[in-house]
Amino acid sequence: MNEHDMEKMASILVDGGNERITAIDGADVVIVNTCCVREKAEQKFYSLMGRLRIIKKRQGLLLGVTGCIAQMEKEQIMDRLPFIDFSLGPSSIHRINEAISSAAAKKTFLDFSDNGCTTPFLVKPLDPKGSIKTFVTIMKGCNNFCSYCIVPYVRGREASRESRDILEEIQGLAQKGLKEVTLLGQNVNSYNKGKDDLPFPALLEAINRIDGIERIRFVTSHPKDLSPDLIDCFGRLEKLCEHIHLPFQSGSDKVLRLMNRGYTAGEYVDRLNRLRERSPGIAITADCIVGFPGEDEKAFEDTMELVEKIGFDGIFSFVYSPRKYTAASTLPDEVPRDIGFNRLARLQGLQKSITIRKNRAFEGKQVEVLVENVSKNSEEDLMGRTRTNKIVNFRGDRDMIGTLVRVGIVKGYANSLKGEKLEIEGGIIC
Ligand code: SF4
Repeated sequence: MNEHDMEKMASILVDGGNERITAIDGADVVIVNTCCVREKAEQKFYSLMGRLRIIKKRQGLLLGVTGCIAQMEKEQIMDRLPFIDFSLGPSSIHRINEAISSAAAKKTFLDFSDNGCTTPFLVKPLDPKGSIKTFVTIMKGCNNFCSYCIVPYVRGREASRESRDILEEIQGLAQKGLKEVTLLGQNVNSYNKGKDDLPFPALLEAINRIDGIERIRFVTSHPKDLSPDLIDCFGRLEKLCEHIHLPFQSGSDKVLRLMNRGYTAGEYVDRLNRLRERSPGIAITADCIVGFPGEDEKAFEDTMELVEKIGFDGIFSFVYSPRKYTAASTLPDEVPRDIGFNRLARLQGLQKSITIRKNRAFEGKQVEVLVENVSKNSEEDLMGRTRTNKIVNFRGDRDMIGTLVRVGIVKGYANSLKGEKLEIEGGIIC
């Protein structure tokens, strides 16, 4: 979501006559787009700002802060970072040119306007020239108030973008040659809930009919909104990829209740079982928090058990860190940090063995790969992804970038698969 917001700001800035550069040397303006979902990201941000303060003084550049930390701190950000020139919350990024002009006239510009504001939906990201895939925002904000999460406070309540506008954008992307779209939102599967517009499964169906688009993905979903209609889309809509990212956060009902997640571990497993019945072989990834207040050893073992039972393709796992404003920050029974990190190491060790086992199961199989780029491992190799979102590296010519090819998998590793392109008489089979 943050990355996508940066693309939108870049689009407005380029339209305003600016040039995007990647090195700080020679920059007139530096914008730091921030995330405050985890404590570590916040700590990194403040340490970066310390370094940027010195560069700002040396180069005389303008320095601005956008994103969730800006929204969380609002005007108080100036107490901590009095040297910055402007700051905008996520709902105000469409005012970036205004912020820079004001700062250039030595007038600090701050805007943390109403989170219900949907103007940012109207801002299109930078033209994805030469890309084969991109993100498309379909909703923003969240109404769930999980007890540990700051998102509803900094991104506001749920607001869905009109389906007509989304479909027009995707048609335009298909005409530019893009093959894959990932629908983006804090809680995508509650898109248009209670509104008189297409519900999420119907939106998927409409995108599935757009010529030129080959693959559809979406992120992130909430387990309680994984409806039977959405489950039914898998296996029925041929462009919808067989992968879902479905955070479970804990395998303990006690902890899930404290987290205010709105489902039990059993209900989570039931939904995934139904999904697997509908789409056998679907890849499942998730997020998990360990060391949440009240997580005793038994609760942590429940999480380990759930991870074994589901056999996730991958997990993003973290040690809990309390966030300002959230209900969980006042909960008793804190778990000592060393115990939290020990549990994280155990969980990640288990998941790594499962991921390797699952990736090795691909050895000897053929997969469809959308070729994205030259591989980071070798100039002679290409990198692409399977429909299940596995990274595949294989030897191939650069003119295959942007095409769908069939690849035979020869080796499964922890983070990727190694493949060989399959050739038939007259060309590569697709
Ligand atoms: S559903 Fe996701 S974004 Fe919404 S409050 Fe819970 S963790 Fe945060």
